[in-house]
Amino acid sequence: MPYGPAHALPGDQLTITTNPDTAPFWEAAKEHRLTACQCGECGHFRMPPSPFCPNCQSTKKNWPDLPGTGTVFSYAICSKNPATGEDFIYVPVVVQLDGTDDARLISNIFGIDADDVRIGMKVQVEWNPINDGWVLPVFRPA
Ligand SMILES: [Zn+2]
Repeated sequence: MPYGPAHALPGDQLTITTNPDTAPFWEAAKEHRLTACQCGECGHFRMPPSPFCPNCQSTKKNWPDLPGTGTVFSYAICSKNPATGEDFIYVPVVVQLDGTDDARLISNIFGIDADDVRIGMKVQVEWNPINDGWVLPVFRPA
């Protein structure tokens, strides 16, 4: 039986916390800019952001604006709302971000039937308002 349309998770069910290493990502998302943590020394990207570059141990960071596009690296189809337990189709995706060496972002895809999501498909960022004025990057087919 087909799953049907994939939904973004309801924003009013989502709450985040930030720390000094992650705040620039979330501040950019508020402005509908997709960014990722890039080492200020060697240029290697890393997501999630961390205090030290795993490649060269530098603490310097850049937060460049990315194109907002990417490729589905992996995904899963879920059939229950994690907050309420009700029937609800959503598709967590791991997106390989364009404009980076190999940074990947875990998100959701919507605007497509869950059955039609494929590894390797091109996706485009969209913006899902969540609690406390934050905005979550989500993806739809490009
Ligand atoms: Zn580095």
